[in-house]
Amino acid sequence: MIELAKIKGIGPKTIDLFNKLGITTSDALISYYPYRYNFIKRSDLSMSNQNDDVIVDGVVENNPSVYHFNRRMDKMSFRINTGSMLLNAVIYNRGFLKSKLKPNTMITIFGKYDKLHNTIITSELRFGPLPEVEVIEPVYHTTYGLSSHQLKNYIDLGLKEQWQTINYIPNELVDKYNLQNKTESIKVVHNPIDANQLKLAQTTLKYEELFLFMLKINYLKANNPDKLGLPRDVDYKLVQTFIKTLPFELTTDQLSSIKDIYSDLVYPKRMNRLLQGDVGSGKTIVAIISLYINFLGGYQGALMAPTDILANQHYNNIKEIFKDYSIRVGLLTGKLKAAEKRVLIDQLKNGEIDIIIGTHALISDDVIYKNLGLVITDEQHRFGVSQRSNLKNKGHMPDILYMSATPIPRTYALTLYGDMDISNIKTMPKGRKDILTYLKKTTDITEILAMMYQELQSKHQVYVIAPLIEESDKIDLENIQDLEGKMQKAFGKLYKIAVLHGRMDNTEKEDIMTKFKHNEINILISTTVIEVGIDVPNATMIVIFDSFRFGLSTIHQLRGRVGRSELQSYCILISDKEAERLNILTVTNDGFKISEEDFRLRGSGDLFGVRQSGDMSFQIADIRQDFSLLLKAKEDSETYVNNQAYINSPTIKKILQQSNNLD
Ligand code: ADP
Ligand code: MG
Repeated sequence: MIELAKIKGIGPKTIDLFNKLGITTSDALISYYPYRYNFIKRSDLSMSNQNDDVIVDGVVENNPSVYHFNRRMDKMSFRINTGSMLLNAVIYNRGFLKSKLKPNTMITIFGKYDKLHNTIITSELRFGPLPEVEVIEPVYHTTYGLSSHQLKNYIDLGLKEQWQTINYIPNELVDKYNLQNKTESIKVVHNPIDANQLKLAQTTLKYEELFLFMLKINYLKANNPDKLGLPRDVDYKLVQTFIKTLPFELTTDQLSSIKDIYSDLVYPKRMNRLLQGDVGSGKTIVAIISLYINFLGGYQGALMAPTDILANQHYNNIKEIFKDYSIRVGLLTGKLKAAEKRVLIDQLKNGEIDIIIGTHALISDDVIYKNLGLVITDEQHRFGVSQRSNLKNKGHMPDILYMSATPIPRTYALTLYGDMDISNIKTMPKGRKDILTYLKKTTDITEILAMMYQELQSKHQVYVIAPLIEESDKIDLENIQDLEGKMQKAFGKLYKIAVLHGRMDNTEKEDIMTKFKHNEINILISTTVIEVGIDVPNATMIVIFDSFRFGLSTIHQLRGRVGRSELQSYCILISDKEAERLNILTVTNDGFKISEEDFRLRGSGDLFGVRQSGDMSFQIADIRQDFSLLLKAKEDSETYVNNQAYINSPTIKKILQQSNNLD
């Protein structure tokens, strides 16, 4: 490392600008990586569409004309001859270039192609032709007074000086992932020649960054005495016997998740695990088995759901599964009568209930447990952070299991903050078919009703989601009644139709759900209260009115109400707008992809906050894009944190000592 000021060509003014970017040393300069790249290559306009981004080169055909709007704004137009085409070019605020753009001057222009008007709305103009091979140009975040191009030149000066890198990654992992030499990688990310070489260099640097980050976190975790948990003495054979009594065979991923959880529970270290699996992948049974293991270990367990309806469903499900066991199960929701609640609270306090299911009522201050050992939250993204941490404090040190359908921003963050392990259920139970999703317009209603009729005739059930945003709105209620009227008119003579919404009282909701579950109701018109968790495998169609009102992930969750058995299921999205956005739902059933897309469209939200907060700022890795690499790094670092020779090597030791302020 040398002083910035010693690099030839870098003066004090530049150093001031560097400091604004947080670059204070030559090492920092060369590890100031591009945030994206331009792939510069001549466009084939015959293959380009209206509004495509294009790059062409050619000669100026005529003297440009410049039109001044006012003192600050101008618009310049001229014709450019590419050799095969004559095009118009329009560029704003470059009037000062007019004298240089003499006819026959060779130039390259970047811009949007307005094919209809044979014009390129130019955003950038360079003199000279395009190189014959594709050029990859790095683009840097920079500050006022320093262009990306200038910064790049300074970085190249830095790269010419003497510098050394330290390789932190164990050789074994370098081989495993085919990583490149680090010095070479740094050179390449600033001066890439081809896309493959660039990718390899980026992966090398990203992996190292993520690996070291996770290593620090794991190191802290391993050395944090507060995280001691409850030991349990449970024979896995008992768990296996229980699994054999289930009406279906568990998937490999369900089994391995159960193994993860079992190991956590018997090991006296506090469990803090996320169980992740797409809608319908079968997380509930994993939760139930976890509660069983915890019960065998001698502790009370709690399962918290975000809605009354879902809590009820879990309760009924668990009661049924444990009906031949001497396990006492309770249900605690906010709508319980005061006297009933008092009884339940006493039973919890005295240890007369083994497993309690409920909504956030489970964490109200008056609920005291005798020996709470395991807390599970279903659909964890529905709970606020404080609600969850409140629950954590209910027992002395209960183990925690979070369940969630898809990785959401907060999940990324929690993973990164590291005191969380992850189990994944990637495969669906045997025999599941992909849900077929169609995008329709309101004018297609006759066809939609016909499709519904077909499912109903096959004795299957249908959900209809009403076009609501807020359930508190009076208009919304009118909407839902209106929809009910329409459905009654179409199907009322033949089929039973019911309405469900958030403002109904608990017993009413419960009654309707029970009837729907038993196929005594054929069409359930509902608001998004059924978004999470509801499980009625005989329902095979969901019709969602005004789909454009919902985020992609919400629709994916709603859609997950069907496709929960071996029957072919359907989802009909009705929308007169935003077809482009909704279209992804018709091509994929992969919740991960959909949430990524949703996330991309809605901006980085939470995640942005996370990235900005000190510990999370990475030089090259992007926790969202590189999430799978992060998971690998996490797993690998878990092995190496126990490797004393590695941990105690001087370079690693130094890094770990710097990390005391993490967490
Ligand atoms: P989610 O992961 O969305 O919470 P559930 O746990 O509600 O999904 O499971 C969806 C449905 O699949 C339920 O009806 C459940 O009984 C059933 N199921 C779960 N695991 C299996 C399996 N291994 N084989 C067949 N059906 C299963
Ligand atoms: Mg569920």
